[in-house]
Amino acid sequence: MNVYNGIVSPETFLGQIITSDGDFGFQLTEEIQGPIILRTQLGQDSYVRTISIPAADTSGLIMRSHPKDQPYDLRLHMEEINSGFFKWNLYAIKGVSIVDGPEGKGSFTSAEKDFVEAIFRENLGCYTGNHSTIQNLRIEKDDNDPSDYAGKGQDNWIFITRDTTMTLGGLASTKYDDNGNIYKSVISLRDSPTSYATSHEQGHSFVAPISHAQTLPGTVTIMRGDVQSQLNSPGPADCEARTVLYEDTYTAGSSYDDVLGTEFNEIISGIPGITIIQ
Ligand SMILES: [Zn+2]
Repeated sequence: MNVYNGIVSPETFLGQIITSDGDFGFQLTEEIQGPIILRTQLGQDSYVRTISIPAADTSGLIMRSHPKDQPYDLRLHMEEINSGFFKWNLYAIKGVSIVDGPEGKGSFTSAEKDFVEAIFRENLGCYTGNHSTIQNLRIEKDDNDPSDYAGKGQDNWIFITRDTTMTLGGLASTKYDDNGNIYKSVISLRDSPTSYATSHEQGHSFVAPISHAQTLPGTVTIMRGDVQSQLNSPGPADCEARTVLYEDTYTAGSSYDDVLGTEFNEIISGIPGITIIQ
């Protein structure tokens, strides 16, 4: 791990910690103003993690660096689907409401609602890692009054609704705040729900709120937008994206340089002449 003092530019290199057991400790030998920048990597096969903390006594700090063992470019994929590192606060989600479309735009049969719920619940394993907070996620299917589903007081809800008037087969509209926290999602399905359409739009809500996968093939992600994936449920790249996004120590709105960095020895703003031995 490399330690820098980051209040001025360029940053000052303060030291390096090398451990084999994962524990680390560092004592400053000079007084600094901070913040302190810490950078770590678990060997060459991991992404580089960088964080910034105030210059103060700190303990219990956890830094995780994501393994780089995928047979594809995970960072590129994630920058395509979620450029802003937008994520739900999984501790805040209140539930899912499967409701009929507004203003006569269509409705689900009771069997269709059951189908959507089953697919949605099944996919929570991939999209949230069955996070403890959503294991008993509330899913309402008896709310046939969608009149205010887009109104106030509905934050931290996911709505799934029918819209037979759309050109697209499915649409997901996701709202997030200035810090990158997703706080609302409205999924619209045009046709009688399929596993593909439900899983794809659910993917927009949890891992791909900004765009579609462009590089990876439809054999590993259901988030292609140009062609329908061969998959009918989320693929390995979709679940891998979740393991990055919903890692609790990675905050919403993070920079990919900080969570999936690729250059351990790159000084943040550059100090020529320093060689760091990794
Ligand atoms: Zn899409």
